[in-house]
Amino acid sequence: MSTLSLLDDIRARIAQAAGACGREPASVALVAVSKTHPAAAVAALLQQGQRHFGENRVQEALDKFPLLRAAHSDLRLHLIGPLQTNKALDAVRGFDVIETLDRPRLSDAIARAAEREGRVPELMVQVNIGDEPQKAGVARAEAEEFIHACQERFGAKLIGLMCIPPAQDDPAPHFRDLAAMAARCGLAGLSMGMSADFEVAIAAGATQVRVGSALFGQRPALASSAH
Ligand SMILES: *Cc1c(COP(=O)(O)O)cnc(C)c1O
Repeated sequence: MSTLSLLDDIRARIAQAAGACGREPASVALVAVSKTHPAAAVAALLQQGQRHFGENRVQEALDKFPLLRAAHSDLRLHLIGPLQTNKALDAVRGFDVIETLDRPRLSDAIARAAEREGRVPELMVQVNIGDEPQKAGVARAEAEEFIHACQERFGAKLIGLMCIPPAQDDPAPHFRDLAAMAARCGLAGLSMGMSADFEVAIAAGATQVRVGSALFGQRPALASSAH
């Protein structure tokens, strides 16, 4: 199947999932997760009007996107993988949205980088919604205090929350918990849902879904297990 028909299929499924709960299809942005896939695959989607892309590694994105950006000034690049503080400057330079703000030291590093660049990307706080020991994201018990501190510091640039529920769980209650937390904090943005569960996420209020394999096909096994 060509990339075009996969994109059409995902768009139709997003529209249907939104419609089923009385939402406008345009209220859900599709972030095409292009990690491990070449620039040519991104270019093919750009040709079909896709504009939001997600990458989980800073260096891979910096290698892949400069030429694509030069050709499409409205391209929006999202960082969806863990960010080390020593990469904060590169991330602030290279990304439009950093979805993985999850600890005070990273908040400090992003603030310093933003000051230096004179540019603040949009930011989302990643919440470890299943409180899994190995997973990135701020712990649930600390999340709201951290979110409020980020709101104080970054103002309207803090646009919402992001999560990756535990793989073995029914994702729906986790998505609803993240939506409730965002509502309590007065945040409108919700990045949740991947290839396997984006319709469930839309029903719970997702404003951005991050879809990789359903759009691009499976990632090479070695590359995806390496991160
Ligand atoms: C890889 C990745 C995705 C996309 O996953 P698929 O199952 O391929 O759709 C979404 N979010 C994050 C954070 C990822 O790392």
